[in-house]
Amino acid sequence: MPKEKSSTCLVCGAGGLEQIAGEFKTQIDGPDGRPMTLSVPGLTWRHCKSCGEDLLDENASEAITRAHRAALKLLTAEEIRSLRQRLGKTQAQIGELLGIGEKTYCRWESGTHFQSEAFDRYLRLLQEPEVVDLLNEIKLNKEGAMQSVASKFTYLKVSAYQNVSESRKRCSPAAWFALKSA
Ligand SMILES: [Zn+2]
Repeated sequence: MPKEKSSTCLVCGAGGLEQIAGEFKTQIDGPDGRPMTLSVPGLTWRHCKSCGEDLLDENASEAITRAHRAALKLLTAEEIRSLRQRLGKTQAQIGELLGIGEKTYCRWESGTHFQSEAFDRYLRLLQEPEVVDLLNEIKLNKEGAMQSVASKFTYLKVSAYQNVSESRKRCSPAAWFALKSA
């Protein structure tokens, strides 16, 4: 549904859009994946009689996004923000911790977009401090794994490489340098 304030329909170009105030209804996929009707009361929007399109401005679109999020029983933008604040993290830090980046995270917290069901469950897990520690560990281990492999090779004696299989030598730049300088 396009966002438009002009009196001309963005979809078909017809003029004379009708202003409607009341309950806005639309079909969504519910929390169980089955289609359901989302009702948003107290909304104002424009309707094109020519093509039947509903045109929403930013306020209307945000209200629908909020209602959609609530219907799916997802954490609200405010709940996500207070969760982050309890963890004492910046938006960039939590984006990094979750592995989604700051931009995606900010969209959830500002309310313009909402998280998937999978990420909603992931966010709820962050309420447990041990989960945050574990996530930090996973992140560090992923980055550290390559380093520890490289340092292991660096500190091995060159003679030890005689026993390392050919394929492994080819895979490790550290081993290659050690053999070269031997
Ligand atoms: Zn139209």
